[in-house]
Amino acid sequence: MDISQNKKSQMEMATAGSTDIIIVGAGVAGSALAYALGKDGRKVHVIERDLSEPDRIVGEFLQPGGYLKLLDLGLQDCVDGIDAQQVFGLVLTKDGKNSKNPFSLDKFHPDVVGRGFHHGPFLQKLREKASSESNVRLEQGTVSSLFEEQGTIKGVKYKSKSGQELTAYAPLTIVCDGCHSNMRRSLCNPKVDFPSCFVGLVLENCELPFAEYVQMILADPSPILFYPISSTEIRCLVDVPGQKVPSIATGEMANYLKTIVAPQVHPELYHAFLASIRKGNIKSVPNRSMSCAPCPTAGALLIGDAFNMRNALTGGGMTVALSEVVVLRNLLRSLHNLNNASATHKYLESFYTLRKPLASTINILSNALYKVCCASSDPARKEMRRALFDYMSLGGICSSGVMSILAGLNPCPWSLVFHFFALAIYGVMCLLLPFPSLKRLWIGSRLMLVASGILFPMIKDEGVKQMFFPVTVPAYHRPAPVN
Ligand SMILES: Cc1cc2nc3c(=O)[nH]c(=O)nc-3n(C[C@H](O)[C@H](O)[C@H](O)COP(=O)(O)OP(=O)(O)OC[C@H]3O[C@@H](n4cnc5c(N)ncnc54)[C@H](O)[C@@H]3O)c2cc1C
Repeated sequence: MDISQNKKSQMEMATAGSTDIIIVGAGVAGSALAYALGKDGRKVHVIERDLSEPDRIVGEFLQPGGYLKLLDLGLQDCVDGIDAQQVFGLVLTKDGKNSKNPFSLDKFHPDVVGRGFHHGPFLQKLREKASSESNVRLEQGTVSSLFEEQGTIKGVKYKSKSGQELTAYAPLTIVCDGCHSNMRRSLCNPKVDFPSCFVGLVLENCELPFAEYVQMILADPSPILFYPISSTEIRCLVDVPGQKVPSIATGEMANYLKTIVAPQVHPELYHAFLASIRKGNIKSVPNRSMSCAPCPTAGALLIGDAFNMRNALTGGGMTVALSEVVVLRNLLRSLHNLNNASATHKYLESFYTLRKPLASTINILSNALYKVCCASSDPARKEMRRALFDYMSLGGICSSGVMSILAGLNPCPWSLVFHFFALAIYGVMCLLLPFPSLKRLWIGSRLMLVASGILFPMIKDEGVKQMFFPVTVPAYHRPAPVN
């Protein structure tokens, strides 16, 4: 199906000015939301800058929790027919030793597992589903700004595919224009951090040492990931710390990968890794995290990467975006009339609290895990990294507890804090037993300080009240306005 083709009836709907909701951006969040709202009977106008299939190295692994959200939205068939690969857990590798950590999926339907795939075909499937809804009009165009009148967003200004400057009107605009969002400035106060870049390669003609598992090497200076994205291809993401990475164009990157990274790669993947460098299809993407305080504005809402980002190490971004779609769809189901802007706005404020449990646990786990997984010359940090590997290797609740948060299946912030400090305490015990020394005691106490220094600022950024005591936030209880 040509998804950029406009349907006649949909054009009539737009010209009649009967749009309920404008969605800016048909990425993962925008397409899934358009489908969900269209299915619920809302007239939706989606404006997407580029409707052709993207070729990106992001969003290629969907956590089991993300798949659960696809099921909830009726979008599970979007992982069919794209050669998606089932993934059952994570293998950590440190100093040649492996720790195998399956997802705890016993409580779920056998279909609920992780999935690796190419991002482009998956996204096109989501867009096709959205445009298959008769209430959804998916248009190619670039939104330049929000259109505001007396403090309320009334729509957007955009340039159509043919270059026409147009204005689209709707009582509610949902902005999901991704990590480079132009629109977020007026809707939130972003705090962006660029800890590193991810360099992507595709490995062919090889098998993962642990089939159907994501493999993460705790390498020096920082982690390397491998996971299947088709029946014949393995994605390798190499984390390169800092914002300035060796140049791909001059060959510095290829040299870095050959000399620093290749010797740390699994022997089974070594030759395919070198072959992939020789082939030259190397891509690099900044790895951003961004916490955000919303500036609530009547008539508009932010979701997905436009609102919040976390370290890509744990592949949680699409799971957060899809869970936000579910939260928003459920909220909007109780709201029949969107035309009272201030009542709608007050009611929808609860979105920012209701999304918290899942978003904050995934955000903190990925950002904290990244800090713990990077190599360091600081003995306390070294011990913390060793403790992570040993703690996960204990198996049982230690492994399954962390894995269920990582998978997006346990949105309980208390579990996250429990496992983080259990890991730190385990690290201290390993240092002190059986023969403590003054030096080990000193490193152990520094390890606890490092752990607190990682976790507490992240919790503060997320908001203690919203994260741990959401019921004390007034917006949490706000009922839908009566028409
Ligand atoms: C290196 C890396 C690897 C990652 N790997 C994973 C992973 O394995 N698993 C995972 O779950 N997450 C991963 N992520 C995160 C994931 O890609 C994002 O969280 C997810 O794509 C967010 O979806 P979104 O809809 O908010 O944004 P996007 O998917 O980026 O969509 C935004 C859309 O808005 C459109 N747009 C932008 N500006 C405009 C405009 N002005 N007008 C109209 N349209 C516009 C864009 O064209 C785009 O289609 C990764 C991120 C990085 C950086």
